[in-house]
Amino acid sequence: MSKNCIFCKIINGELPAYKIWENEYFIAMLDINPAAYGHVLIVPKAHFVNLHDITDEYAREFLPFAQKITRAVMDVSGAEGFNLVQNNGASAGQTVMHFHAHVVPRRIGDGLSLSWIPKSQSKEFMAEMTEKLVKKLNG
Ligand code: 5GP
Ligand code: ZN
Repeated sequence: MSKNCIFCKIINGELPAYKIWENEYFIAMLDINPAAYGHVLIVPKAHFVNLHDITDEYAREFLPFAQKITRAVMDVSGAEGFNLVQNNGASAGQTVMHFHAHVVPRRIGDGLSLSWIPKSQSKEFMAEMTEKLVKKLNG
């Protein structure tokens, strides 16, 4: 638990939340400022800052938990699709520094913007980037 963390306070019961589900590892609750009808947050019960901090155990438990929640959110909201969004770092839009994932229900024409403009790149660029990453991953 981290002292001044709003999500830790919710998990401790110091602050209220619209909790919809929980298990040993995670809680799911409504986002207090929803981007869409049925916007839910999935939050680990232990304090991890971002994706790089979560343990293998939490990582393994995350997707089955997320699947349970996204299925329920889709049914209840009647959405046509959803984004599972997870921001890491202030530059990526993370405002609460306790790992969490957003489930954002989507509809065609809903006007939400989570997108970027795709750019084409030269073969040289692609080859160079591939080489850098492969080298890094091979240590
Ligand atoms: P981030 O920008 O870090 O990916 O997302 C943080 C999210 O947490 C925001 O969507 C924001 O609305 C939500 N949030 C911030 N404070 C609270 C709170 O006290 N309770 C709940 N349920 N959501 C919160
Ligand atoms: Zn926390």
